[in-house]
Amino acid sequence: NFISAVVPPNEIGVKFDDIGALEDVKRTLDELVTLPMRRPELFSHGNLLRPCKGVLLFGPPGTGKTLLAKALATEAGANFISITGSTLTSKWFGDAEKLTKALFSFASRLAPVIIFVDEVDSLLGARGGGFEHEATRRMRNEFMAAWDGLRSKESQRILILGATNRPFDLDDAVIRRLPRRIYVDLPDAQNRLKILKILLAKEKLESDFKFDELANATEGYSGSDLKNLCVAAAYRPVHELLEEEKKGGASNESSYLRPLKLDDFIQAKAKVSPSVSYDA
Ligand code: ATP
Repeated sequence: NFISAVVPPNEIGVKFDDIGALEDVKRTLDELVTLPMRRPELFSHGNLLRPCKGVLLFGPPGTGKTLLAKALATEAGANFISITGSTLTSKWFGDAEKLTKALFSFASRLAPVIIFVDEVDSLLGARGGGFEHEATRRMRNEFMAAWDGLRSKESQRILILGATNRPFDLDDAVIRRLPRRIYVDLPDAQNRLKILKILLAKEKLESDFKFDELANATEGYSGSDLKNLCVAAAYRPVHELLEEEKKGGASNESSYLRPLKLDDFIQAKAKVSPSVSYDA
């Protein structure tokens, strides 16, 4: 199936509060998307206030673009359809027209709906000249035509939300259709602290756990890297317990795990390093 997920808003399970940092991004999305989807009547007068048809989230991998897209659907009370650019162009050679028609007619029945296109660059990337596969070209043209074909009434309640790590690969025609482009940046220390507090909210931590030291020690880590780091750290007490049991130190099998210490995270850095590198 070319659609990777269709989820109603009450079943998405992520909201803006579950996302650490990115406050400006959330505020912008609220104004651009949540408000017109929740209160379309406020956007049907005059020329200034118009619902936005397309938004692009761009920025380094793992910074929470997918998470934002899902949470936005929850906030906007919209159904969430997710498709992945590379799957669309690889699997469905030849069927571009049928496929895009089906997608858009399905979406209009589900409105209000957010169509999240991850890796939008591979579906709607720059024209590849002579090297481009004919099927890719057709798919892109069909997609754009169907998108343009949304009548204005429908388009108020159908939003295309693209995400990419490679904004420079996008075609001008696509950029024009995604008039609002929002940069989702790697978190700085203050924002890493906010993300860590969310990721560790339900974990048992040593008393007086130094969140700020951990935030300072994770320069360059994305939200996704931080999540992986926390998982690696959380395994350390588990491994210790199993070692103890093997040595016969713990008489019974126990499920008691010691609280996590800052050092668990510092040690885990050897296993999980930042995935974005700025090396030349
Ligand atoms: P990619 O570009 O690689 O697709 P992405 O920008 O879409 O990545 P996500 O898939 O949203 O990133 O993030 C991966 C995981 O990292 C999330 O499921 C979440 O657990 C964690 N994460 C990322 N950013 C944040 C954040 N700001 N707050 C809380 N968790 C986060």
